[in-house]
Amino acid sequence: MKSYDAVVIGGGPAGMTAALYLLRAGVKTAMIEKLSPGGQVLMTSEIENYPGFPTGLQGWELADKFTAHLEEYPLDRISDEVRDIEFGDPIHTIKVGDEDVQAKAIILATGSRYRKLGIPGEERLLGRGVSYCALCDGNFFRERDVAVIGGGNSALEEALYLARLVNKVYLIHRRDEFRGLACYQDKCFTHEKIKVIRNTVVDEIQGETDVETLALRQVDTGETSELKVDGTFIFVGFEPIMDFVPDTVEKNRNGVITDVEMVTNIPGVFAAGDIRSKMCRQVASAVGDGATAANSAFTYLEQLDS
Ligand SMILES: Cc1cc2nc3c(=O)[nH]c(=O)nc-3n(C[C@H](O)[C@H](O)[C@H](O)COP(=O)(O)OP(=O)(O)OC[C@H]3O[C@@H](n4cnc5c(N)ncnc54)[C@H](O)[C@@H]3O)c2cc1C
Repeated sequence: MKSYDAVVIGGGPAGMTAALYLLRAGVKTAMIEKLSPGGQVLMTSEIENYPGFPTGLQGWELADKFTAHLEEYPLDRISDEVRDIEFGDPIHTIKVGDEDVQAKAIILATGSRYRKLGIPGEERLLGRGVSYCALCDGNFFRERDVAVIGGGNSALEEALYLARLVNKVYLIHRRDEFRGLACYQDKCFTHEKIKVIRNTVVDEIQGETDVETLALRQVDTGETSELKVDGTFIFVGFEPIMDFVPDTVEKNRNGVITDVEMVTNIPGVFAAGDIRSKMCRQVASAVGDGATAANSAFTYLEQLDS
């Protein structure tokens, strides 16, 4: 069985930063990532708010830079999905693939995933016009009409990205006010290809084999209508990925609970990034969490050794 001082679960910005800090401190570290390292950054078209890049950069470019930085250090990378953790004193056992991996310290950094609307047609037409990733699927809708559902930063950003490719973007939001940043709102509201539909919910995504229409309902009046679209992109928030995290770890519906040092209620277990119960889910804050978690894990390991 492989054994490490620290194991980082998740290779997004939080996990990669935590691994970098641990390795630079000389800690024997492994990072377990089920996909390619990068996390949600790989699903992001353009990142304009990460300090140091005043003209912005593509999500994949930032992910590549994080990965290249890590390659300077002796990291053990395990490409698989963590299914469970058994906590021990002081050695924890991580169930990954067919193998068990042991660690004295664990950093949980599995991020978050898109929240579903839970309406008829959403599951059935997934991959047939329903998508949660404009960067991955936008190209299939060149010169066609699509809807973007949501009112936060992700919805606005992705509507702007899609507007570069498609014929028309209907930006549908259930409220009057958008939650996204003013700069994104301004760009969306003045874009010639984006039509904003407020106070409206989508009750059903319809289509025989592919998305054809959306059943809309006005929130104030209850008035119903149909909107013809070729694709529907859903951005209605995120939920932390913590299915594999045992019940003994304190959490709420917004994520794993930590203190400001990223310490959880289980000795030797830390959490960083979007998996945490917190308000700001951004690359900069994930990176900050990762550095803090690594520092706390390092201090914990030192205390354990003495
Ligand atoms: C469309 C979109 C646009 C965005 N735009 C911006 C932006 O412009 N600026 C900004 O700052 N932020 C943006 N964000 C948010 C930002 O990407 C996230 O806040 C950040 O990536 C969180 O980092 P993380 O490391 O906590 O988690 P993630 O990036 O989610 O990484 C978690 C990693 O853990 C892996 N993982 C999950 N479960 C397991 C498991 N059981 N076993 C092994 N590995 C697992 C995942 O595969 C993933 O690679 C955007 C997000 C999206 C989706």
